[in-house]
Amino acid sequence: MKALRLHAPGDLRFHEEPMPVAQADETLIRVTAVGICGSDLHWLGEGAIGDAKLARPLILGHEFAAVTEYGVRVAVDPAVPCEHCEYCRSNRKHLCPETRFAGHGSCDGSLREWMAWPTRNLIPIPDSVSAADGAMLEPLGVAIHAVRLAQVQPGSTVGVFGLGSIGLLVAQVARVEGAGRVLVHDPLPHRMRAAQSHGPWVQPWDGHACVNHALDCSGNAGAVQDAMAAVETGGRVVLVGIPDDDRTTFVASVARRKELTIQLARRMNETYLRALELVNSGRVDVRSIVSHSVSLGEAIRGFGIAQHRQGLKVIVNP
Ligand SMILES: [Zn+2]
Ligand SMILES: [Zn+2]
Repeated sequence: MKALRLHAPGDLRFHEEPMPVAQADETLIRVTAVGICGSDLHWLGEGAIGDAKLARPLILGHEFAAVTEYGVRVAVDPAVPCEHCEYCRSNRKHLCPETRFAGHGSCDGSLREWMAWPTRNLIPIPDSVSAADGAMLEPLGVAIHAVRLAQVQPGSTVGVFGLGSIGLLVAQVARVEGAGRVLVHDPLPHRMRAAQSHGPWVQPWDGHACVNHALDCSGNAGAVQDAMAAVETGGRVVLVGIPDDDRTTFVASVARRKELTIQLARRMNETYLRALELVNSGRVDVRSIVSHSVSLGEAIRGFGIAQHRQGLKVIVNP
């Protein structure tokens, strides 16, 4: 079977590899759709995410859908926590220090034709949910978790700074969770248009307006600063984005004067069923975020599209 491995920064290579073998708690799955994530671009550009470094040639890909060897269409949860530690036993599995995560560290991901993955991580999807929709449940889960951390109240105004796929999904989820208005900001006009296409409740942040809850979905220092400038005194800023140089910086006086609470977000916690419900009911539109679809053989070109931030979400179809 065909697989795509990252050997070093900027060095992606195709390989012909043996079929994986499923262990007792695993199922063999044929990968049908893989989303390219901003975190994959960190791996590609830097050979690392923060202090997690490339240890050996790694198969990227953690946003994905598949068909099991028995023909069942599934979305796949990329996180495999240990199930035994204090975090796993207290409903905080996303914080498990022993977690294996597809396409991260030494755990191969989904940019290949077949993989063996724990059966309990496979979430059956109905026919109304496409393979690409299924792959989008992962970033949607991240957005759901981020909005929960922001503690959005009904009728409140939410600021979203940075409109990659996560930011675009956060804007929609904030609305579902009751936000009256969502103010958005991104330097790229096509991303602003995508966010505003959902209705008049999404408006551009004018650089001055105050919001009740603010989320940085870019990791860029400018976006973090805007989020802190926009949020109300005593408010909460959720940092969802991943900074390029593993440093988050902001002007301390603004944050101190307002006595802000800074909440960092890590992946997601138990959000797959909620994500599936939001997509299946049409309350969140993931399809409009998918701007490009390429085959596995064209995946390197797909990474180029994502790196140049030309579209929104690039999906690879192995
Ligand atoms: Zn991701
Ligand atoms: Zn654990």
